[in-house]
Amino acid sequence: MTAPPPRTRTRRPDVGALRASLGRWFDSSAVAGRGAGDAIDWVRALPFLAMHLACFAVLWVGVSPVAVGVAIGLYAVRMFAITGFYHRYFSHRAFRTGRVVQFVFAVIGAACVQRGPLWWAAHHRDHHRHADTAADLHSPRVHGFWWSHAGWFLTDGAFATRSERVPDLCRFPELRWLDRFDLAVPVALAGFLYALGAALERWVPQAHTSGSQMLVWGFFVSTIVLFHVTVSINSLAHRFGRRRFDTRDDSRNNGWLALLTFGEGWHNNHHFFPGSARQGFRWWEVDLTWYGLKLMQSVGLIWDLKTVPAWVMTKARA
Ligand SMILES: [Zn+2]
Ligand SMILES: [Zn+2]
Repeated sequence: MTAPPPRTRTRRPDVGALRASLGRWFDSSAVAGRGAGDAIDWVRALPFLAMHLACFAVLWVGVSPVAVGVAIGLYAVRMFAITGFYHRYFSHRAFRTGRVVQFVFAVIGAACVQRGPLWWAAHHRDHHRHADTAADLHSPRVHGFWWSHAGWFLTDGAFATRSERVPDLCRFPELRWLDRFDLAVPVALAGFLYALGAALERWVPQAHTSGSQMLVWGFFVSTIVLFHVTVSINSLAHRFGRRRFDTRDDSRNNGWLALLTFGEGWHNNHHFFPGSARQGFRWWEVDLTWYGLKLMQSVGLIWDLKTVPAWVMTKARA
């Protein structure tokens, strides 16, 4: 038996990295090509850029009340899943729930195209640990505004799910599976929306919609708006607004962002006391996610909502 000849090193160096980048479109456990770099992986970022370009298709597919209504509805449901579950539940464990509700909202969260729940929660826990220091991947103070908004998560280094940060969530095989193949959810949503629009066009022509119109509004426009509003908490909410508490980071309370993000704009409150399921600490600090969570608690879907202890407000600045 003869040993196989040694592999020659004539392969072009980029092929392996290209394959890894393409593989990571579909399987987030695919091996990283170049380690923990902080350069943007443009091949993996292509779908992200293409989704922005796809929004311009509104010029060709037109508009209808039903398509815009679906876009707004999907924005609201998915924003609630991101803030109530990806953030307050998975990242901060601010309330408890059962395994089915946990998985259902993990799936809705994955439909936001902001990666899987384990990836999201692990990076977010890191953000609180290192907020606005060099180790915070999306600090506008350290890395600049645009990097904090939409650069950091396109890098090789930010791609991996830091499982060591979320051992409590890794116990659930269904969450690990979803985190690995998170793209399956938005792809299924896009297919459903196209089919819905095509069905309406055929059987309810007075709705004046179509498969492509429903896809563009319901999926691309809704998702891109949802994305930029969500990440504005990383960028704008560490720049603009009031600081009620003297936290070590630059977090701010911003009422406009709180309205758009269903309560996340009370970000200085949140950085001071992240364990609370409620982020608007005063009655006038509108926090739609909190109201939604209270509603879910009243019908028994979730329980043990953590609130703000009285001592917290005594720490507010004069
Ligand atoms: Zn923050
Ligand atoms: Zn947080």
